[in-house]
Amino acid sequence: MAQAHTETVIGVHHWSEKLFTIRTTRDPALRFRNGEFVMMGLEVDGKPLLRAYSMVSANYEDYLEFYSIKVQDGPLTSRLQYVEVGDKLLVSKKPTGTLLWDRLRPGKHLYMLSTGTGLAPFLSIIKDPDIYDHFSKVILVHGCRYKNELTYKKLITRKLIDHEFIGDRVREKLIYYPAVTREPFENYGRITTLMESGKLLKDIGMPELNREDDRFMLCGSKGMLQSLGAILKERGFAETRKSDFREYVIERAFVN
Ligand SMILES: Cc1cc2nc3c(=O)[nH]c(=O)nc-3n(C[C@H](O)[C@H](O)[C@H](O)COP(=O)(O)OP(=O)(O)OC[C@H]3O[C@@H](n4cnc5c(N)ncnc54)[C@H](O)[C@@H]3O)c2cc1C
Repeated sequence: MAQAHTETVIGVHHWSEKLFTIRTTRDPALRFRNGEFVMMGLEVDGKPLLRAYSMVSANYEDYLEFYSIKVQDGPLTSRLQYVEVGDKLLVSKKPTGTLLWDRLRPGKHLYMLSTGTGLAPFLSIIKDPDIYDHFSKVILVHGCRYKNELTYKKLITRKLIDHEFIGDRVREKLIYYPAVTREPFENYGRITTLMESGKLLKDIGMPELNREDDRFMLCGSKGMLQSLGAILKERGFAETRKSDFREYVIERAFVN
């Protein structure tokens, strides 16, 4: 397929019945910015079956990593969940996306708010040295229903801290805030509720939100984007549109 590279699966990790991660080879010609997505998938009956997927791996890593949902009757993921090392995947050649730090007006604090697999693009962004040069605090919030859906915790809380090149900056600047809605947890509740009640900011020791300092990237379901967008608008923040760079950018984690 002319618009896609064929990559080989080099690793698969199943987190749960609903979530898994795939690692593939990376064609050196594929260039992307951390936070972007590609079209990825399988050849089915001689035709490409592709879906949008954010890169979890950073743009300086020599492999590609994707974090995926398993939708039992989903055309792609009902098949993709069974891939094994050695299988072939298609990866489009033209990454794109809106979750880019320079599509925001300059600020001090970058809040990345995600639910479910909406975490994926932020995993590449927190590995990006540039992000730590442009923000004094980088806050990653991941909301899930159950604790076992708080995937990548070890990468965020341990591996990055020890990272050869960015470990120091991660220790100083990255704040990780996992939250759960359907079972007891120290950070219990929806991100919207945790923001409105002030618990989130209090727990992480950050000041009240203000337009001068705070910038946001949002990635989650349509409902999550709508309710968080409404909270931000109410507080005077505006969404970036084309080249009018404002205080927040959004990306849908999936299309309903
Ligand atoms: C910009 C963008 C980036 C995306 N990045 C990722 C990613 O990194 N990881 C990922 O798993 N998916 C991602 N998706 C969703 C992905 O493109 C597919 O929808 C997903 O892989 C399911 O494909 P499918 O063919 O099995 O089912 P589809 O027919 O595509 O979806 C069936 C239904 O499943 C639900 N669904 C789909 N994806 C999700 C999801 N991620 N979480 C919860 N419910 C979902 C929706 O209700 C959807 O209507 C992204 C979507 C967009 C628009």
